[in-house]
Amino acid sequence: MLRLRCIPLLMLVVLASASPFHLIPAPSTFDLGMSSNQATFGVPLNYSEFCTLKHLHDGNRIFRDSVPEKTMGDKEPTFMFFGCTDNRLSPSAIFNAPASSIITHNNIGNLYSSKDPSASAAVAYAAESSQVQHIIVLGHYGCKGAEAAITMAQNTNKNVRTWIRPISKLYSTSRRAEIVHLRDSRKPHRELPNGLKDAPPASNAGFRALVEENVKRSVSELRDYSFLSKAYSKPSTNNLDVFVHGFVYDETTREVVDLRVSFGPPGKQIPRVPFETLVAAQKYHHDSYY
Ligand SMILES: [Zn+2]
Repeated sequence: MLRLRCIPLLMLVVLASASPFHLIPAPSTFDLGMSSNQATFGVPLNYSEFCTLKHLHDGNRIFRDSVPEKTMGDKEPTFMFFGCTDNRLSPSAIFNAPASSIITHNNIGNLYSSKDPSASAAVAYAAESSQVQHIIVLGHYGCKGAEAAITMAQNTNKNVRTWIRPISKLYSTSRRAEIVHLRDSRKPHRELPNGLKDAPPASNAGFRALVEENVKRSVSELRDYSFLSKAYSKPSTNNLDVFVHGFVYDETTREVVDLRVSFGPPGKQIPRVPFETLVAAQKYHHDSYY
């Protein structure tokens, strides 16, 4: 969703002299690190400049050369991330994950719904066919899906408006104080008859709260209406050790926080989650999301 254009070649040359991201000397050893190889092939390390098909081609060449074949797919992944389509939300980068170590399923607003066959199938596949132990719903502050639910801008694509309906409903019905305040502050009034149309900043408390509640909504759906909820109670799959967590990523600090909404098979201890807990988001966990 974040739109960054390719920086023209001339500017690239100028930047190259000032930025540590460019024209790093080629490695003189058998360095297999991605960064050194990228520099060798002239592929930009700064993602805003990675914008041509040639960059993709060269990047693939580097990948083939730098990632030993035996590390690819020789172990079933432990983690599945249920995230947003937004390009800023890359679990591999955020968690510094090795190649092929995670499964991902993305859509606008990291929405899980049992009525979405794609999401339902992905969760079933992760839990049943692979050895995933942790499914993580990963939201992010400043999410454009949540933003669209707040602004309901007329130019929002019709399909997007339909897709984000659960977030819109959450926004319009939530009793969480920060969201109520944001909602009330944007209502039409005498001085501003059409209400506020501009999006709130990502730092807005109500916007942040909506992102958090939206993650909790998806976790809640997974708990009550997914392959997992059925599998936990079946004798044939009662060895299923899959736990679900709700995290939010803050792009400004690059920190990940835990919403403490984890669940797992009944009677089994939920593994300790080492991320900082967002206390403010916890007390609304048992509210109805629908
Ligand atoms: Zn998003």
